[in-house]
Amino acid sequence: MAHGEHLHPATVAVTFGRPPRVQGGPVNPPLVLSSTYVSQGVPGPELLYTRSGTETWAPFEEALGRLEGAVHPAVVFGSGMAAVAAALSLVPDGGVLVVPRHAYQVSLGYADDLAKKHGVEVRRVDIADTDQVVAALEPAGSSRRPAAKRGDSWGEGGADVALLESPTNPMLEVADLPALLAAARERGVRTVVDNTFATPLGQNPLALGADVVLHSVTKYLAGHSDVVLGACVTNDPSLDAELRAYRTLHGSIAGPFEVWLALRGLRTLHLRVERAQANAAVLATRLAEHPAVAEVRHPSLPSDPGHARAARQMRGFGAIIGMRPVGGTAAADAVVAALRLWVPATSLGGVESSLERRRRFTTESPTVPEDLLRMSVGVEDVEDLWADLDQALRSVR
Ligand code: PLP
Repeated sequence: MAHGEHLHPATVAVTFGRPPRVQGGPVNPPLVLSSTYVSQGVPGPELLYTRSGTETWAPFEEALGRLEGAVHPAVVFGSGMAAVAAALSLVPDGGVLVVPRHAYQVSLGYADDLAKKHGVEVRRVDIADTDQVVAALEPAGSSRRPAAKRGDSWGEGGADVALLESPTNPMLEVADLPALLAAARERGVRTVVDNTFATPLGQNPLALGADVVLHSVTKYLAGHSDVVLGACVTNDPSLDAELRAYRTLHGSIAGPFEVWLALRGLRTLHLRVERAQANAAVLATRLAEHPAVAEVRHPSLPSDPGHARAARQMRGFGAIIGMRPVGGTAAADAVVAALRLWVPATSLGGVESSLERRRRFTTESPTVPEDLLRMSVGVEDVEDLWADLDQALRSVR
């Protein structure tokens, strides 16, 4: 296979991370279950011990790195949170970290932990408000920091790292990634973009200048709700080495079997995402007109605040919908209970459609509406998904 630069993502997903073509050789990388490798004398660059590397990681890392348009293979971790922790190790003790006010709640919890244990100043911003994010990157005395933001609760120094998430979990706010990544680069602020919702098919933040892109591989990349994994990708050789060293030192490694399954899932990423996005756009449009629905958020809707930005910078609008039924929290819980096809469960990005009321977690941001249902649209027949939603919404009116 000629691994040229010009291959489309669908082809990359299918063809990268294959063993060399040899007569009688396997088409798929073998799953190797061994914690240690035969070795004697001074260890060389070859495989030694599975905490520092195994041949079952490399094919997945190669394919995901290529999908993100990176010069390096991805670095796979034992969970998305392990990838978040590795990427946020870029924040120095006592440093400044900018985060979205709405983002995956455990990532925000991790930022709070850095504040508590490492004296990090965490600046929470509305990621859709570009001026506010840029102001949070600046030191207090900067002429670029808008007057309205001087003297606020932020400290004096400029930011060290910005964690960007777009679209955000669970509010689906869309950040102006090209503008924010350029602004951060200009100011010497390192950037970490959580690309879980968009997937590498939707956007490639490294091409816009992001330092690190991270994924909860658990979601769309693996795609079948059967593994928990994470990954980071970077174009910077020293960051790549730092992330690999972090993984070995912290032991935040992935099991070979999980990574093997994730590569198997990745082979159909484009098919699954295409179908899920198409389903989501149809459902969002219908929900927006449903008498039992108070509010719908999906960037595909022309009325959505993130629509124009998403249309400019993303390929597709993703497959997560935010929906608030008429009747508040009780109605939201009743809709979840009345559904027969949709699975009431946390997580997202599986082939099966699932949903949950996010504020059932007491740790979810208090500015997320109590009655917001986060819906992960799967790849089932859209008419069956709609019929189920419609009956559930009507049953609680
Ligand atoms: N980032 C986002 C946007 C997520 O939704 C999640 C999990 O829900 C994570 C990171 C953490 O990933 P994991 O659950 O694989 O640790």
